[in-house]
Amino acid sequence: IVVGVPRESAPGERRVALVPRVVGRLRSAGLNIVVEPGAGGGALMSDWLYEEAGATLGDPWACDVVVKVAAPTDEEIGRLKPGSVLIGFLGTNVADALATRDVHGLAMEAIPRISRAQAMDALSSQSSVAGYLAALLGAQHLTRFYPMLTTAAGTVPPAKVLVLGAGVAGLQALATARRLGAQTTGYDVRPEVAEQVRSVGAKWLDLGIEAVGDGGYARALTDEERAEQLKRLNEAVIGYDVVITTAQVPGRKAPVLVTEDSVTAMRAGSVVVDLAGESGGNCELSVPGEAVVRHDVTIVAPLNLPAAMPESASELYSRNVQALLELLIADGRLKLDFDDEIIASACVTRRS
Ligand code: NAD
Repeated sequence: IVVGVPRESAPGERRVALVPRVVGRLRSAGLNIVVEPGAGGGALMSDWLYEEAGATLGDPWACDVVVKVAAPTDEEIGRLKPGSVLIGFLGTNVADALATRDVHGLAMEAIPRISRAQAMDALSSQSSVAGYLAALLGAQHLTRFYPMLTTAAGTVPPAKVLVLGAGVAGLQALATARRLGAQTTGYDVRPEVAEQVRSVGAKWLDLGIEAVGDGGYARALTDEERAEQLKRLNEAVIGYDVVITTAQVPGRKAPVLVTEDSVTAMRAGSVVVDLAGESGGNCELSVPGEAVVRHDVTIVAPLNLPAAMPESASELYSRNVQALLELLIADGRLKLDFDDEIIASACVTRRS
C-alpha cells in the first residue's frame, strides 16, 4: 500500500496531513509513503525530515490512499487514481466528483464521535488548537491584563473571560484563559457540560435554557427559547472583558449569541473572539476573517484558526489520520469494511 501526502493548496492552509514522526511509524507498519516536495513547508517540516523518516518524494496523487487536510480542488480530484481512497476534511462539495473518479472519499469530519473512534477525532483535535488560540487572541486584543497583578504601583484586577459554547474548543479556551490568570465563566445549552466547565476552574453560567439534540450535540433553539436566551445573555455579557464564542449546531448556521446591543454595553477595550465565523458567526457584528472595532470593542472572527498553529495542529491531525489508516489497512492490504460504523459514517462516496 502506498500512501500519498500532497502539499495543501488552499490559501493560508499551513497544515500537512502527515508529519515526519507519523510517517516513521507508518513505515514501521509496512506502508510506503510518497510526499509531495514542500508538503510540510507550511508547518516548517522540511523534505529531508520526511526522507529521513522513510518517505519518498514524488507525485502523491497516484497513490492507493491520499491523505489531505482540506478538500481537494477539481483539478486535484482529476489526478486521483480510480479505486483509490481519499482522506481529509472533505466538506459537502466533492462527493459527486469523487464518485465520478471512482474514488472512496472518507471525510474526517464525519467520523462518529464514539469511544472507539476517539483517536481519529480530528474535529476535537483541531478544535482544541482553535480554543487555545482563541484565548490567546482575546488576551492579545484586550487593552488590559488577564491576570491580577500586584505591583508597587498598585493592584490590577484580573480580566473576566466568558466562553459561550463549552464544547471541545470552548473548554480549551476556558482552560487556557485561566492559566493566563483570567477569571473564567462558561456557558452552554447542554447541562452536562457544567461539570466539565467547573473541572477547568471556571464558573458555570446557568441561564435556565436546555437544548440537547442528537449524538450529544446541541439542538437549534425554538424562536421563544432564542429570544429568551438573547435577553438573558445581553444582561450577562456586560460584565466581561473578553467573550469567546464557539457555539455550533451541526448542519446549521451558527446561532447569534452576542448582539450589537450587547457589544454596545460592553466596556471600552473589551474583546469578542468569535470562533463560529466559518458558519456565519455567533456575534452580529463579526466580519469573518477580520478583526474589527465596533463601539470601542474589538471583534475578532478568525477563519481556519488551526492553520495558524500548523506544527501542533498537523501533529495531532496526523495521529488522527494514522488511527484511521490502521482501521483501513490489515495485513498490508486495504480493506474497507462498510459494515463498520466508522467507515460507513465517514464515507462520502462509495465505489460502485
Ligand atoms: P460544536 O463545535 O458542535 O459546538 C460547540 C458548542 O456549542 C457545543 O458544546 C454546543 O452545545 C454549544 N452550543 C450550540 N448551540 C448553542 C447555543 N444556542 N447556546 C450556547 N451554546 C450552544 O461541539 P463540539 O465541541 O464539536 O462537540 C460537542 C460535544 O460532542 C462535546 O462536548 C462532547 O460532549 C461530544 N463529543 C464526544 C466525543 C466522544 O468521543 N464521545 C468526542 C468529542 C465530542
